[in-house]
Amino acid sequence: MDTQMLIGSKFDKGTEIEEPILNPKTGATILNLPEASPAQIEAAVSAAEQAFVNWSRTTPAQRSGYLLKIADRIEAEANEFAALEALNCGKPINAVLNDEIPAIVDCYRFFAGAVRSMPGQVAGEYLPGHTSMVRRDPIGIVASMAPWNYPLMMMAWKLAPAIGGGNTVVFKPSEQTPLTALKLARILSEILPEGVVNVVLGRGDSVGNTLINHPKVNMISITGDVATGKKVLQAAAKSVKRTHLELGGKAPVVVFDDADLGAVVNGLRAFGYYNAGQDCTAACRIYAGKKIYDKLVADLSSAASTIKYNLPDDTENEIGPLISRRQRDRVSSFVERASELKHIEITTGGKPGAGSGFYYQPTVVAGALQEDEIVRREVFGPVVSVTRFSEVDEAVNWANDSDYGLASSVWTRDVSRAMTTAARLQYGCTWINTHFMLTNEMPHGGLKQSGYGKDMSLYALEDYTAVRHVMVAHG
Ligand code: NAD
Repeated sequence: MDTQMLIGSKFDKGTEIEEPILNPKTGATILNLPEASPAQIEAAVSAAEQAFVNWSRTTPAQRSGYLLKIADRIEAEANEFAALEALNCGKPINAVLNDEIPAIVDCYRFFAGAVRSMPGQVAGEYLPGHTSMVRRDPIGIVASMAPWNYPLMMMAWKLAPAIGGGNTVVFKPSEQTPLTALKLARILSEILPEGVVNVVLGRGDSVGNTLINHPKVNMISITGDVATGKKVLQAAAKSVKRTHLELGGKAPVVVFDDADLGAVVNGLRAFGYYNAGQDCTAACRIYAGKKIYDKLVADLSSAASTIKYNLPDDTENEIGPLISRRQRDRVSSFVERASELKHIEITTGGKPGAGSGFYYQPTVVAGALQEDEIVRREVFGPVVSVTRFSEVDEAVNWANDSDYGLASSVWTRDVSRAMTTAARLQYGCTWINTHFMLTNEMPHGGLKQSGYGKDMSLYALEDYTAVRHVMVAHG
């Protein structure tokens, strides 16, 4: 197992406080990893600074070639990457192998193509005797911080457009889930020129905080909690750094009375509980029309109760445990507080799973009201609330009445209602008659306190590059 950080071309162990890396399926410690010292962080930024000189002058075709090599290596070592991610996050092995790894490989391949064909305004004589052109150039050193829910995928979303755009990166995985980042670091050191990507370990408040406040860092990219995003903005304000923020979510799912109930229930069973609900787009906040509500609650509760987890043969598991005991206790306390309300009924689940792993039962919280905490706050666990609505306006207003604005969905057989409702939802993404589906060609990102950074798609390349105007006077 790779345990060392990548600083320039050197592999080094951190010298500071050790973080226990846990197996969430058992609660056992896999190993302890020390975090980077201030001197090691400095060395990583300095390596990125030196690498930028040549990397920023490579051609798109050259950078594309590197991205394709990274994709090929991840694909060739898919089993090893999947095993590590499953170990460190508790994910079912098949979910990583069949869902995540292909999307990760495709992310590098998408950006390998995209960097060679960036669109923009045409050059021309906008003033007589002067030719203007628009360039998109790299921003500089990007400090990237990733969360624990999809460690290798978040690394791909951050690295591919950043280095594809000609930037160099100091990457910090979540202190809880660094194992796949360390394995990829080894591969990156074999493929990329020295210092283009550096990987340092440590907690947000120490290593992360040093990076976001570093005067030589030009851009901060972070996927994480809203509170973390606000700290990033405060740090960025000091030297006017660019920021790319992907923060939390609380996705509303508006189900009209005419929806295909079977499809809704199948969709919610899959997309409400995937990754044990530790997903910023999880279909967790259902608004159901008054006629479909009772049947939806009954069918969803039966369906959720059949989700397979904690089985000895991991290939049968559909979801894993939560990432940590702390996260499971947090989810548990949300459900406990909800269950104390008279109008709420926990129709399935509602308890931690058995054993020493951090499991929580797939849960349906029925009868929830708009003001309830369970409807308003991000639970980040296998918990779906259902709220009854009467009128379209009520559903749309409740759906939009949230600090978050990442993802949403509308379920109806009426195309006109689907389109008008989708247009009114204030979310970075609205799915119609599905949820959760992502593709590397399309942007993923939020509105409101979910942030404004766009991952995947050409929009991510735009985020990681600066628009410049060059004008030639030629008489
Ligand atoms: P987190 O905010 O605690 O940590 C995210 C990353 O930021 C970690 O690497 C962490 O070490 C670092 N960090 C924390 N404090 C920092 C600081 N002061 N300075 C610099 N770095 C700091 O989030 P988490 O608990 O790891 O992840 C869960 C959160 O991520 C949820 O809120 C979820 O919704 C969000 N998320 C959002 C998206 C999206 O695309 N919008 C995707 C996945 C997860």
